[in-house]
Amino acid sequence: MAAPAASAPVYDVVGLGFGPANVAIAGAIVDKWASTRSGDATSHVPLQQVLFIEKQPEFRWHPGMLLPNSRMQISFLKDLATLRSPQSFITFLAYLHSQDRLITFINRGSFTPTRREYADYLSWAAEAVQKRGIQVRYGEEVVGVTRLEDGTIEVCSRDTATGEESRRVTKNLIISPGGSPKLPPALSVHWPHPRIFHSSSYISSADAFFASISQTSEPLRIAVVGAGQSATEVLLDLQSRLNALPLPSGKKHVLDMIFRKGSLKPSDDSPFSNEIFDPATTDFMFRLPTQRDRQHVLREYNPTNYSVVNINTIENLYEVMYHQKLLDGIKARTGREDESNRTRITLLPNTSIYAADIVSPSSEASSTSESVRLTLHNVLTRAVSLKTYDAVFCGTGYDRDSWTRLLASSNLAEHFGIKSSSIELVAESEGPTTTHLFADLDDIESRISSSSTDGFSTPPTPDTPHSHHSPLSRGSHPSKVRISRTYRLLSERESKGEAAGPHEARVYLQGCTQSTHGLSESLLSILGVRAGLVVDELCNTSGAGNQSTL
Ligand SMILES: Cc1cc2nc3c(=O)[nH]c(=O)nc-3n(C[C@H](O)[C@H](O)[C@H](O)COP(=O)(O)OP(=O)(O)OC[C@H]3O[C@@H](n4cnc5c(N)ncnc54)[C@H](O)[C@@H]3O)c2cc1C
Repeated sequence: MAAPAASAPVYDVVGLGFGPANVAIAGAIVDKWASTRSGDATSHVPLQQVLFIEKQPEFRWHPGMLLPNSRMQISFLKDLATLRSPQSFITFLAYLHSQDRLITFINRGSFTPTRREYADYLSWAAEAVQKRGIQVRYGEEVVGVTRLEDGTIEVCSRDTATGEESRRVTKNLIISPGGSPKLPPALSVHWPHPRIFHSSSYISSADAFFASISQTSEPLRIAVVGAGQSATEVLLDLQSRLNALPLPSGKKHVLDMIFRKGSLKPSDDSPFSNEIFDPATTDFMFRLPTQRDRQHVLREYNPTNYSVVNINTIENLYEVMYHQKLLDGIKARTGREDESNRTRITLLPNTSIYAADIVSPSSEASSTSESVRLTLHNVLTRAVSLKTYDAVFCGTGYDRDSWTRLLASSNLAEHFGIKSSSIELVAESEGPTTTHLFADLDDIESRISSSSTDGFSTPPTPDTPHSHHSPLSRGSHPSKVRISRTYRLLSERESKGEAAGPHEARVYLQGCTQSTHGLSESLLSILGVRAGLVVDELCNTSGAGNQSTL
């Protein structure tokens, strides 16, 4: 095991990623500094050296889906801090006030900001914490972590522009990586490919795709995969882009939406169901006796978030499709074609993608680019059909397991008792693992939950003959790692009831613990409260080595 370099500065906290989860942590730390300074002048100010490492070149919140007029699916009061402390400097109200829009926002009479405004709020907050002393390195990707001899952790990051590596040592690590794009297995084997896109980069991909086809004499054929919020928003946006692309009269662009469900389903945001996102529900979930019980609750509340669409978006799409039918009727009766009706949307429900092949441009075809041929399987009639598309856009959610690869490839694996590349989180509150009649079912369920998709997506797609299998999800029995209510991973020694070493670095996980902490984990609802718990624990339990005097 490596010894720490004598001259290197040691951070109190290093955070992987600087998305909303870690901005909320930064805000809670700054609030802690302020309350310590305004109290006893001789008291120790905790966690002074704090650094977040973010691979994007600047703060950006889901830039690929900042579609015009798209709205948040959450009250503005569930911002980065209000539920933890309404007096915080990074509340949404403080943002509105600083931008001179508070009264206009009130007059607007809605609890839900647009996604564009919320993204601006988050980037304002990211700047506000930096102005108060939080350090952030943008454009660096964390590529490795190593436990050093003295219990601290060395974080290795790579500059995304130059490839240059940096190493920093920290007493505590907070891993908040968000999700990585998830595609149906049949398509993921070809990804990245210039004709296969994921909603995470929708706007830039669609801009580039349409720029490459500024005019066409042949109709375009586009597929959207998924039945969640993102997929439906992408479908509607593609329809307006296609309608703007002129075609010889009588021809129509093809826009198919492919999904396994029977129809698009509305999200359940009714008040009682919404309580599943309350901070108190996290306590309830965490204390449930077994993983199986938690899976039961997660399944019941899936329609609050998974593979569902806001009812307004569903109604918009229905209206668009009704209008399409109206114009078809007018054309059939009068022979008059409406110039704006250039796209034919077709929903293909009960359909899964069995296989995908890349088709080279043939010499006779007018297109000079590759296309994607999908083998579609109707899950009810079992009919198989082949369809070829110029582009396929997937709104199929995110995997949240990048942290498992980071730990499994580090010497921290030994520290946490990780023996295989597949990791399953276990709530600290659970007793020793017992084998019972449904052990196999538990295994399957926990595997599904560790690669869960978010509410802007569809659920995991079954494997197909063309699937690519991640070594993390297959082939080995998962290593169980215990996690505390305060989101700290417990070392193997602690799991056996032994005390942690006094200078042992703490490793926290944010946004990836749905299986132990519940549905709000990957969302925004409890960010402020969650950050407060982590920061309180870091401040309360940090020994002399973790504190410094101003
Ligand atoms: C289009 C869209 C809309 C949404 N709307 C809502 C909503 O209305 N309400 C709601 O509750 N939730 C919503 N969500 C869910 C979303 O997950 C949360 O809003 C939020 O982004 C979670 O914050 P996070 O910090 O955990 O993850 P992220 O926002 O994903 O941030 C993680 C950050 O870590 C960085 N990172 C990852 N790996 C590394 C690495 N190795 N090195 C350095 N940096 C790294 C990433 O670049 C990223 O900036 C939405 C999601 C999407 C996709």
